[in-house]
Amino acid sequence: MKIHHLLVILVAFLCLGFAVYLYFEEEKNDESLMKKEVSYTNHESAHLKNYCEKGEMQSPIQIKNKNVLPQQTPAIEIFYGEEPFILKKQGYTLEAVSKSRVSYITIDKKPYKLDSFHFHVPSEHQIDYQRYEMELHLVHKNNKGKIAVIGVLIEAGKENEMVEELWNFLQDDRLKEKEIESIHLLSLIPEQRSAFYYSGSLTTPPCTEGVHWIVFESPIDFSNKQIASFYQVYGYNSRPLQPINGRDIYKLSVQ
Ligand SMILES: [Zn+2]
Repeated sequence: MKIHHLLVILVAFLCLGFAVYLYFEEEKNDESLMKKEVSYTNHESAHLKNYCEKGEMQSPIQIKNKNVLPQQTPAIEIFYGEEPFILKKQGYTLEAVSKSRVSYITIDKKPYKLDSFHFHVPSEHQIDYQRYEMELHLVHKNNKGKIAVIGVLIEAGKENEMVEELWNFLQDDRLKEKEIESIHLLSLIPEQRSAFYYSGSLTTPPCTEGVHWIVFESPIDFSNKQIASFYQVYGYNSRPLQPINGRDIYKLSVQ
């Protein structure tokens, strides 16, 4: 075999290797972008901001009761249990990732498994111009990767016992991750199941649209101390309100 044949083969291998590297690097980048922990108020990146500003159906939004349409579709049902989670200190929030993925919701009978939950301070959504102290986001995905998020507003009041274990982890500087045996998810959603439903986006980059949003009308309580200790660690980590652009918002009862 002549020397230039060998060279051609060598170059071809190098190109293939580089292409494979780029492919995986891109996948990795996409993933890290998904998880990119950005506080919009503190250290916003111009690039990511532009990326998120392309959309017309973004979240969070101002929900005005006088504009909502009372409706019973889509039919939303919650099937939450007690299950283990892995707590993670992310750059912008405390995230709890489901280990067993047994809890789920259904939207028109189609299942969306609970993937993780995290917190924002202050609330991202507002109802009739009221901003709450915090907001909990329970992030679900179906088998095609479509996302449904339940937003739970949190106001200052009684201490939430369930969340104490999460907060203890937050205060422990030695730990970045911790497995927690069981979280009773129903203690994180209000008893009163009236909710607003609309189509929006993730509120952190890449701000993917086509997200089913379910925001409960009634808040749950955390104590002042619990709210303050989250704020001390993360500061403000909420995205500003986004234009509604004529989107319909429904008010329905979650089962
Ligand atoms: Zn969120």
